[in-house]
Amino acid sequence: MTAEPERKEFRSRLLSWFDKNARDLPWRRTSDPYAIWVSEVMLQQTRVAAVLDHYERFMCRYPTLQALADAPEEDVLASWSGLGYYRRARLMHRAAKVVAGELGGRFPETSIELRKLPGIGEYTSAAIASIGFGEAIAVIDGNVERVLTRVLGWDEKTALLSRMREEAAKLLVKDRPGDFNQAMMELGATVCLPRAPLCLQCPVQPQCLTRGEHAVGERKKMKSQRAAYAFVRRVSRRKVPEVLLAQRPKDGSLMPGMWELPAIDPDTAAAERHLLAVRHSITVTNYYVTVYGYEAEEERAFRRGGTVRRWFAVEELAQLPLTGLARKVLKRLKALPGYTTREPQVRFGESKPEFSQ
Ligand code: SF4
Repeated sequence: MTAEPERKEFRSRLLSWFDKNARDLPWRRTSDPYAIWVSEVMLQQTRVAAVLDHYERFMCRYPTLQALADAPEEDVLASWSGLGYYRRARLMHRAAKVVAGELGGRFPETSIELRKLPGIGEYTSAAIASIGFGEAIAVIDGNVERVLTRVLGWDEKTALLSRMREEAAKLLVKDRPGDFNQAMMELGATVCLPRAPLCLQCPVQPQCLTRGEHAVGERKKMKSQRAAYAFVRRVSRRKVPEVLLAQRPKDGSLMPGMWELPAIDPDTAAAERHLLAVRHSITVTNYYVTVYGYEAEEERAFRRGGTVRRWFAVEELAQLPLTGLARKVLKRLKALPGYTTREPQVRFGESKPEFSQ
């Protein structure tokens, strides 16, 4: 696509399609840059369906940047629980504090200024600036890269980012940059799919140089790993049902400071204590996780030196910064109020509780 009339046709095809087919997503109903920022950070490496579950809850809890800046980090991480990649939440919280404090509450309006905030890189700054403030800057994410390389007939493995930026900037619709960027991302996410693009439904198909005949990259090989955790419960003296949790090291690189079920050795757990088996994927690893049930008086048997442990009332669990896996397991065991019912479903104090699979 070297001539301007071809680019003009591409823009027109893309935007007409987007105007008719854009998914109705909550962050598309607002022009508040703070809300756009929250959605863009959540959408990094996370599927739209998963974000939908969390976005509205997060925005109800922190409706303004000031509310986010004023919140303790623990609360922000708890609200982020289930989305994974917690570094995003930490950096967003830090950036909110910078805007509320050092910038006197004024949200930066250009991509260059936005990039000075913690956690805001090239992609996020371009998305916020174009969608929230109408800056004529192209967004390049994985979806846009895929659409561009296929339309232009480039080799997907060797396409250069600098060339991509140049082409995207030439294609950008200067008076509707936010819509253009969203349309490119939407096309990649819903039509120009990584393995099986829906070329017959594609608005730019007449101009595409590959039309589904591009080289398909190899699927990332997943690793497998076994893990086991203990579900330990008790009823406190005040008759409150409680669960024992362990805190991940605060100086660790993976989910520092988050709470999870105490880890145990998968080879030594007794089969008759088996409660639940789940598969949990993190980046390129599939964890095959088994959860075993223990009584409170047995917890000494699997203490690990240096690990912080605490009993939490079941009612507190939903407010904690839990790892995604801990949240999944507690939900499956119906021990997480707010996601099932307000009443814990695990019958604490009974010797053989009924657990869901
Ligand atoms: Fe992608 Fe097919 Fe559309 Fe080309 S025609 S952009 S390969 S969906």
